[in-house]
Amino acid sequence: MSTPTPPEFRSGFAALVGRPNVGKSTLLNALVGEKLSIVTPRPQTTRHRIRGVLTTPEAQIAFVDTPGLHRHARRALNKAMNRTATAALEDADLVVLVVEAMRWTSEDELALERIVRSGRAAIAAVNKIDRVRPRERLLPYLAELATRHAFLAIVPVSALKSDNIGDLRRTIAAHLPLSPPLFPHGELTDRGLAFRIAELIREKLTLELNQEVPYGIAVEVERLTAEPDQLIVDAAIWVDRAGQKPIVIGAHGERLKRVGRAARLALNAMLGRRVHLNLWVKVRENWADNARALRELGVE
Ligand code: GDP
Ligand code: MG
Repeated sequence: MSTPTPPEFRSGFAALVGRPNVGKSTLLNALVGEKLSIVTPRPQTTRHRIRGVLTTPEAQIAFVDTPGLHRHARRALNKAMNRTATAALEDADLVVLVVEAMRWTSEDELALERIVRSGRAAIAAVNKIDRVRPRERLLPYLAELATRHAFLAIVPVSALKSDNIGDLRRTIAAHLPLSPPLFPHGELTDRGLAFRIAELIREKLTLELNQEVPYGIAVEVERLTAEPDQLIVDAAIWVDRAGQKPIVIGAHGERLKRVGRAARLALNAMLGRRVHLNLWVKVRENWADNARALRELGVE
């Protein structure tokens, strides 16, 4: 089912670190795009909160969150949080220090100290370069940053304008270990993404059925599998009586085929990547009476 992994494939965890307001969240969105964000909780990753996994034909980058750092770690809670933050850094294959162009504060210094203490290799992403005019004004800042730490690379970007994001993505990927994808199968996925996909399938079904949508119909995304070249979506259309199944499937399965095709094309466009959609019609007798079933279907 899955294509073989090329031998030069790289995969690993990258931690985005930086003081508040430098643009970490904006940058993460620009790097991964909510379109591609797939979260796979696994027992061995409890110390990380995985914010997004970017899978390309050459590499897979799992971006992890590091809890906030506190300068004055007097209280036990703060100390514990700092330990967690340091552990998250130590588990990362690579750290990306995010800073703001033309600015260096004591909080940036603190973030850098943490990276140095963790011993992890780091890349610096200099964000918000769209604010620097003319661009040459950036050069002395970049030169000064290079003297602060032996960064593997310093990459100027604008997360807001999506400027030079591809370069940062490639730079991060190039410094990850050679490894097959850590998440070859998206066993469990971002609920938000699964929900939007289910809604889209339901919309196509509604259009196809022309008001004929039986009461109690529900679409459930059962599995999303991220592969380097495509996203595999396994979805079920739940009906609440066996008699509704032929209505949804249509003569010779033509109706379900049309729904599947329309949904797949719309998903390709929405997600900006190739989607393989497997659709099944399933009967859940009296599912509306079953509270657990309702929860599973996201109707809470
Ligand atoms: P975080 O606290 O590090 O996660 O920072 P956010 O991503 O929340 O961004 C903080 C602020 O900086 C927001 O108002 C963003 O819109 C803004 N911002 C982020 N990236 C850029 C950028 O590349 N250029 C500009 N001009 N503003 C940015
Ligand atoms: Mg943020």
